[in-house]
Amino acid sequence: MRRFASVLLLLCLLLSLAACAAPDEAPDEGTDPAGGQEADPPPEEEPVPEPEPYDIYDPTVMPAGGSRDGVAYAAWDGIVEHLFFHPVVAYPEQAFDGDSEAEGIDDYMVTVNEYNKILQNVYDKGYVLVDIGDVWSETAGEDGQPRMVRNTLYLPEGKKPLIFSFDDTNYYPYMLGNGFTYKLILGEDGKIWSWGLDPEGKEVVSRDLDAITILDKFVEEHPDFSPFGAKACLSLTGYEGILGYRTSTDTREWNDAKEAERQKEREAVAPIVEELKRTGWTFGSHTWGHIRLSGKTRSMEEIQSDTQRWFDEVGSLIGETTILFYPHGERPDGNDWKETGPIFQYFQEQGFRVFCSVGIESFSYIKKDICAVICDRLHPDGTTLRHSRNRYLQFYDAKEIMEVDVRPQREIDWE
Ligand SMILES: [Zn+2]
Repeated sequence: MRRFASVLLLLCLLLSLAACAAPDEAPDEGTDPAGGQEADPPPEEEPVPEPEPYDIYDPTVMPAGGSRDGVAYAAWDGIVEHLFFHPVVAYPEQAFDGDSEAEGIDDYMVTVNEYNKILQNVYDKGYVLVDIGDVWSETAGEDGQPRMVRNTLYLPEGKKPLIFSFDDTNYYPYMLGNGFTYKLILGEDGKIWSWGLDPEGKEVVSRDLDAITILDKFVEEHPDFSPFGAKACLSLTGYEGILGYRTSTDTREWNDAKEAERQKEREAVAPIVEELKRTGWTFGSHTWGHIRLSGKTRSMEEIQSDTQRWFDEVGSLIGETTILFYPHGERPDGNDWKETGPIFQYFQEQGFRVFCSVGIESFSYIKKDICAVICDRLHPDGTTLRHSRNRYLQFYDAKEIMEVDVRPQREIDWE
């Protein structure tokens, strides 16, 4: 509250200073700016609230004196768990309406209610969020060549580290009108909100329907869930734009009007990317076209041009990243662990260092022959809620999480 009051005070001060500096004959709001008068001040606008300060700390550095805010910190060299989510289902009645997408959504997604319970459970079990980019670093190996190394993390005593990543946060057209939010927007309070239409077609601006805004709110309410300010790494493709903005090119029938529209979308999404970054979100590549990387269905040339397109259309908006999330979990060259094939090597040359697949545990392996680390992620979703209750008990109990009544009536094998 005090922080908010001081921001308000600062705003008032700035506004009164601005008022002093304005000429006495400042025109009314309605004055035609093309009237030829020199140095017309812009019409008074609603002041955009100063963003609340957001602190980000480096978990690889022990806080001075071994504690921060009265909390003692301790070194952690154990496993760093990693959970990934797809966009969450805001309107189950729409998602699970028996159409051709319903079973896929049931397999790969959780509902808002399930997601809320998962957050509460991992929080209650002592997990704290860390950013994937802080878990490993690049350093010189014994042979002088760059190699990845696992960092010691300094966590509040008794806490366990947890990485979150959210795949396909692109707001694909197939999801719109199918139970999901439509895009992220900046609210009047400067925070990230979701925008969308409910099943009746009414506009809904909310912070309670989208995995991203829900996590923002959860961390506001439970700051000790994110002692370093980390949220999740957003895994982005490019072919339908990002975050609900249609920033992609279409090579089939491109024209100036479409390009102008695309540039507008790029401008619109930029401040959202900026606010996400400021508040602990990071970004990784999920390839431009969500393409398979084994080399069996896509040639090296196709993979290279897809990657270039990702850099041009997505990287240019979100900045540099070292994180690659395999589409479909498919490993480059068919195997990224025992071998380092040409596709893996290519991505490494493009600057990627952390390569993420999907698996049955938060496995990670620092490669010996190249500067890279590969890791698997667990996947809270319909398939694991139905079929992998035991494996996920360290995070939550599927029996208490799953909205059995709103999901399609399919097999569940909790023993
Ligand atoms: Zn994906």
